[in-house]
Amino acid sequence: MIDFALGEEHRAVKEAVRQFITKEVMPLEDQVLLNERNGRPALEPGQLKDLQAKARKYGYWGINTPEEYGGMAAGALMSAIIAGEAGRTFVPFRFGGSADNILYAGTEAQKQEYLIPTIEGDRRSCFAITEPGAGSDARNIRTRAVRDGDDWVINGEKVFITNGNEADFVMVFAVTDPDKGADGGVTCFLVDRAMGWESTPIPTMGEWGPGALSFQDVRVPNDHILGEEGKGFELAMQWIGNGRFMIPAGAIGAAERMLEMAIEHANNRHSMGQPIANYQFIQGHIADSAVELEAARWLTLHAAWQVENGVDARHTSSIAKLYGTNMANRVVDRVLQIHGGMGYTKELPLERWYRELRLLRIFEGTDEIQRRTIARNLLKGHVKVGASLA
Ligand SMILES: Cc1cc2nc3c(=O)[nH]c(=O)nc-3n(C[C@H](O)[C@H](O)[C@H](O)COP(=O)(O)OP(=O)(O)OC[C@H]3O[C@@H](n4cnc5c(N)ncnc54)[C@H](O)[C@@H]3O)c2cc1C
Repeated sequence: MIDFALGEEHRAVKEAVRQFITKEVMPLEDQVLLNERNGRPALEPGQLKDLQAKARKYGYWGINTPEEYGGMAAGALMSAIIAGEAGRTFVPFRFGGSADNILYAGTEAQKQEYLIPTIEGDRRSCFAITEPGAGSDARNIRTRAVRDGDDWVINGEKVFITNGNEADFVMVFAVTDPDKGADGGVTCFLVDRAMGWESTPIPTMGEWGPGALSFQDVRVPNDHILGEEGKGFELAMQWIGNGRFMIPAGAIGAAERMLEMAIEHANNRHSMGQPIANYQFIQGHIADSAVELEAARWLTLHAAWQVENGVDARHTSSIAKLYGTNMANRVVDRVLQIHGGMGYTKELPLERWYRELRLLRIFEGTDEIQRRTIARNLLKGHVKVGASLA
C-alpha cells in the first residue's frame, strides 16, 4: 500500500507547530532584520531561551530526545515535519532540549557532565571535524592527539565550526593512530573550553559566523574520549548521516513561505495596467517553484520515512539534500526576482534568505559530494535504479 496522507498525529503536530511559529516567532522577524542591519545578533541573549521555554509549555521540547531524558522522541517523519514548519521563518529559532546524537555514546559520567546539561540548555556544544586542509576530505584530518600518561595532548586547527565561538565544550576529532588514520585511528574527545582551546570568529555572508578553533598542547584526560578510541570517524559519520534529511526539511518550509509571498505579491503588484501575475514569465517562476517544492517535499519525506522504518536511507538522503537545498536556492532567486527592487532590499527577508540558504549547499556534504555519493552508489551497483520503490 502507498499512503501519501499524513497521519492524524502528524497533522495535529504540524498545525500546532505552525501556530507556535506564527504566533510566537514570526512577530520577531522585523526586529531580526533590524538587528542584522545594525550589526547586532538576531536575538538578544536570553530571547532564544525564553522562546524555547514557551515552546516547552506548548509541549515542544527535545524533539528527537529520548523520553527518558524528558524529550518527545519524535520519529524521523515527525522531525522532518516539525523542521519544515520551523523553516517557515528565518528567525534563528530552534526548539530546546536537544543534544548532538553522538553524545548519547557517552559513558554514564559523560552523560551527566555533558549530555544532560546540553539537553537542559545549561551547556553548549560544538562539533569539530573540518580543518583548513580537510573539509570534504574529512578522512584526511591532521589534528593530532598524543597519549601522555593518563592524558592526551591535542594540537591542531579546526575551521568553520558552528557554535565554535559560543560553545563551552567541543566534540573534537583527532588522529590518535596515524598509521590507521580514518580506518581506526581517529578518536573523538570531549574538551571543555576551560582546558585551553581558543576560538576566533570567521565572518561569513550569513548573519552569524562559525569559529576557527586552535588547540595548542591542550591536555585532556583519557576518560574524555567519546565512544571508543579509534572509532571517532564512525561517530562523525553517524552525526552527519543520521540527520541529513533534516536540512532539506527546513529548506522546504522556507520555500513554502517564499512561494506564498510570491503569489501575494504577484497578485497585488500592478505593472503596465495589470497585476504582474498576468504575465507568463511571472507565472513560470511560480509554477516552476511549486513543482520543485513538491518534488523536494516527497523526496525528503521519503528519506525520513526510510530512516523511521530502519531502511538504509543514505542514498535517498543524499538525493533529498542535493535536490531540496538547490530547490530552495532557485526558489529564493525567483521570488526575489518577482519582488523586483524591493526583493533586493533589507526590508524584506528575501535578501537574508538568499544568503542564508546558500550555506545549505556547502555544509554537511557539498552538492558535489552528494552527487559523488549518488553516482558512486549507482555505478558500483550498491543501489539499483528505481530501487527506492522496493
Ligand atoms: C557556515 C559553516 C558552518 C559549518 N559548520 C561546521 C561544523 O559545525 N563542524 C564541522 O566540522 N564543519 C563545519 N563546516 C565545514 C563544512 O562541512 C565544509 O566547509 C564542507 O564540508 C566543505 O569543505 P571545504 O570547505 O574544505 O571545501 P573543499 O572540500 O575544499 O571543497 C571545495 C570544492 O571542491 C569540491 N570537492 C571537494 N572534493 C571533491 C570530490 N571528491 N569530488 C568532487 N568535488 C569535490 C567541493 O564540493 C567544493 O565545491 C561548516 C562550514 C560552513 C561554511
